[in-house]
Amino acid sequence: MASQTGAIVQQSLNALMGDSSFLPLVQGQRREQAFQSLAAILSTPNKVHKAFLRIALEDGNVVRIPAFRIQHNDALGPYKGGIRFHESVSEDEVTNLAALMTLKNALHEVPFGGGKGGVVINPRSFSEKELYLICKKYVQYFSDILGPDKDIPAPDMGTGEREMDWMMAEYKSIHPGSPYLGSFTGKSLISGGSLGRREATGKGVYFTFRYMMHDFMRDNVGWLAGSSNPFAATALAYANKPMSIAVQGFGNVGSVTAMEAYKCTDIRGKVVAVSDRNVTLYNENGLDVPALVEYASTNRGDLPSTEETLKSSGIAGELLDREAVLYLNVDVLFLAALEDQIHCDNVNEVKARIIVEGANAPITGEADETLTSQGVIVVPDILANAGGVIVSYFEWLQGRETQFYAEAEVYNQLFAKMQKTMNSILPAYFGDPLSLRQNCFVHAVTKLSAVLYRQGKLY
Ligand code: NAD
Repeated sequence: MASQTGAIVQQSLNALMGDSSFLPLVQGQRREQAFQSLAAILSTPNKVHKAFLRIALEDGNVVRIPAFRIQHNDALGPYKGGIRFHESVSEDEVTNLAALMTLKNALHEVPFGGGKGGVVINPRSFSEKELYLICKKYVQYFSDILGPDKDIPAPDMGTGEREMDWMMAEYKSIHPGSPYLGSFTGKSLISGGSLGRREATGKGVYFTFRYMMHDFMRDNVGWLAGSSNPFAATALAYANKPMSIAVQGFGNVGSVTAMEAYKCTDIRGKVVAVSDRNVTLYNENGLDVPALVEYASTNRGDLPSTEETLKSSGIAGELLDREAVLYLNVDVLFLAALEDQIHCDNVNEVKARIIVEGANAPITGEADETLTSQGVIVVPDILANAGGVIVSYFEWLQGRETQFYAEAEVYNQLFAKMQKTMNSILPAYFGDPLSLRQNCFVHAVTKLSAVLYRQGKLY
């Protein structure tokens, strides 16, 4: 497990070890052994699966592409987690992401374990037919370990409903007669997907921010004002004030987050910047986010990145370099692109006082400590970006029942689940000096530890 996740899991275990109300019957030498078992279980994946997918390209060349499926922990249910297509995928990265899935599901009480997949490709360098073959081969190589009650992949960076449809179809032909609708989530509606799944992560990311800075603040402003907690002071500084917002990443998660921010009437926010792999677009008076979404939908997901394309799009804004989005003078920064975007070398250039992690692990451990020590509110990935896995769970349920929910029902259930988690975390966060990430980890590790103990796994 990468150092940041591993270190916070260990801190959480240390806190639980000293809390005699947790596992009160396990004391003395047995307690030490049990906590050593816990550390070992949570810091290592149960299984690591690796393959080299052999693909015949359209030009006649044959390539072997590294691919992974990491099954971190299944104490709470079948392994669950996305498949990423990106050139920077590595075993370490996928392992860390799988561990985050275990913790995310535990935090939000989703009855799944944690897993993750990855294929080391830049999907833009392959034709549609080649991508189809890569998806088929991925399922062929890992067919024995996947399935609705074993391990259920979903989309992640570089994959979407098209890839999930292809993969489910391959799973179905390899396992004739077996239930297959729950084998993959994030599928298209016609293939048994759920209404709202595509938008779920971005909507959940924005909901987390809105709930904390609007609903929770409104109901708790009295005691927050009397608190000496640095994060309460940061939150209060923004109560009922207009906020400027920047969003890094304009894919599945970032574009939906930006749209939610643009439409939201509860918070007087203005989306002044968005970015993607090529560019940052900035307008201090607010960007026309619906026009940008429309532009990206007809331009392979990209934002206008040259003066000509910006002019012909009719969208008012200024072109800045790709990283500029991180350093703008804004109040809120949503990180919805990829890992390690804020690190020890650039953290002091970041000006936002509220940072929400739509992407997984976009802030390194060292940078996180710096931001926390400065009273910056960092809403961590496992809290903010769980909308995708929560609605994946609804999709899996709908596939089992072959009964499908209306879109409003999906969002109501999603927001109710995220709200319940936040209500169990936010009072502690604003009342003690731990970061929101540490609070979430302690919560998730407590749940996992109790279940592992009840399952007799700690000896
Ligand atoms: P996506 O592929 O749809 O979009 C990624 C975006 O990041 C694109 O706008 C791309 O241009 C941009 N980008 C790529 N490289 C970049 C770089 N070097 N600098 C700046 N921007 C860059 O992916 P997505 O599904 O939106 O996922 C984004 C993040 O959210 C990932 O970390 C993913 O793990 C996480 N996440 C996604 C989901 C989901 O349901 N899709 C769920 C949970 C977490």
